[in-house]
Amino acid sequence: TFDAIGHQIQRHATERGDHPALITAQEQVSWADLLERVNRIANRLRAAGLSRGDTVAALSENSVDYVALYLGTLVAGGCMVPLSGMASAESLVLMLEDSGARFLFVSPKHQPLLAEVRPGLRSLGADRILALADQDAGIGQPLAQWLGDVSAEPQPAEVSLDDPFNIIYSSGTTGTPKGILHDYRFRQRQMVRMSRFGLDGDAINLVSTPLYSNTTLVSALPTVFFGGTLVLMPKFNTQGFLELAERHRVTHAMLVPVQYQRILAEPDFEKFDLSSFKLKLSTSAPLRAEVIADAMARWPGNLREVYGLTEGGISTSLDCAAHPDKWGSVGLPTEGAQVKVIDEQGQELPQGEIGEIVGRAISMMRGYVNRPEQTDEMLWTSPEGEVFYRSGDMGRIDADGFVYILDRRKDMIISGGFNIYAVDLEQALLAHPAVADVAVIGIPSEHWGETPLGLVVRKPGHSDTEAAILDWANNQLGKSQRLAGVEFRDQLPRSTIGKVLKRELRAPYWAERA
Ligand code: ATP
Repeated sequence: TFDAIGHQIQRHATERGDHPALITAQEQVSWADLLERVNRIANRLRAAGLSRGDTVAALSENSVDYVALYLGTLVAGGCMVPLSGMASAESLVLMLEDSGARFLFVSPKHQPLLAEVRPGLRSLGADRILALADQDAGIGQPLAQWLGDVSAEPQPAEVSLDDPFNIIYSSGTTGTPKGILHDYRFRQRQMVRMSRFGLDGDAINLVSTPLYSNTTLVSALPTVFFGGTLVLMPKFNTQGFLELAERHRVTHAMLVPVQYQRILAEPDFEKFDLSSFKLKLSTSAPLRAEVIADAMARWPGNLREVYGLTEGGISTSLDCAAHPDKWGSVGLPTEGAQVKVIDEQGQELPQGEIGEIVGRAISMMRGYVNRPEQTDEMLWTSPEGEVFYRSGDMGRIDADGFVYILDRRKDMIISGGFNIYAVDLEQALLAHPAVADVAVIGIPSEHWGETPLGLVVRKPGHSDTEAAILDWANNQLGKSQRLAGVEFRDQLPRSTIGKVLKRELRAPYWAERA
């Protein structure tokens, strides 16, 4: 049965009013308090002209106000457009115009960015730009002032499964940002699926990745929907994470691989009591088997790897405790999902062969906003006439049905006619004792067209040279996979959810040629 989030959360205020809904390092907000804030925002948005399906954009780090605004928008029947503070002013203007945002709320931290964005805005009036702050923050009326004495009476809008829930812009690691539209059906199914991992009313879920990313929403929304507790971090750091986890007896956290690496490398890790953990989830980039082994040995609770795209359509997950022999894979298709591998010509490949991963799952985006052609390009139809979604990822499926991701198709290196997948080369380099972090990219080669280069961050205290690491790694690799070189870097550029920005790393090598 369909129970819109707006109706569902109203119940928490009466049934578990004193239960903590949100916790930050500064404050604790009960369900009764949160619902009062949510309903005031919803009523004010409606009074200001928001109608069912209208979009409301926000540019903010994780905060109580941000969650209240998100839920308030939904309760009013609106559609949320969460924006990334890492995006350029130019792309933010594009996102605001493309999504037809009727309101924009900006936290004090992002006021300088707002100053750059505002001159480019054509459709959004000055009175529709609000500061997500109690006091004067610069541009936009402060939230408290804008709310005035509006009532907190619960009046959740009627919505259907087809109503828009949110638009999330792709991070642009692979091109121009596209608005991914999710409806209530998508979110509803996803929330129910995630609740099976215990992300329900009993969960105390520590959120340390930004709320504007789908990765975060996937785990945070079910906790909210079922009346659990979110512990919010505006900015991730290992000490802060461990302190909050211990103090609030956290049961769940969805993290990205680089966070696991940093938390487990924290010298004080063992000093924290993490016995309350039931499950940790990892997503968005490959989690190495060594990191899984370390987390399973030293961090209480199970670990589950989750693979998916913001677009939906494909999802798999790996229960690390149940399948220690499959660490390094992204597991099995989730309930109701199907995964296949296809070649360049769109033919399905036999089991075990490498190609592009395509999938069918119960939850799928409505499409890219204003881009029907790009939406169609994502589709692949099987000979039986079933529609699958293209992942843009290269991978394979083993004899037991476990899915392995090797590389993004766009990052794959084609060298002298051979396909080289960065993951294999990165694994080889990471096995070297002096290597802390690595990215392998394709650079131009006269002879091969493209050739792989290893960009390596060395561990402190090691003096191995680039040439020594190159020789060592090439000795482990097959002839057609050999690295052309190794270069040291102080660090690797990453997106806010921890993905290495390979396009950025490749650019200078290819620009020299252009
Ligand atoms: P853009 O599409 O602009 O590059 P993005 O990378 O942030 O943005 P997402 O939809 O968040 O977009 O990422 C989906 C991709 O992340 C997948 O196609 C895959 O490459 C990678 N990914 C997600 N989960 C995993 C995982 N568990 N292991 C390996 N890779 C993963």
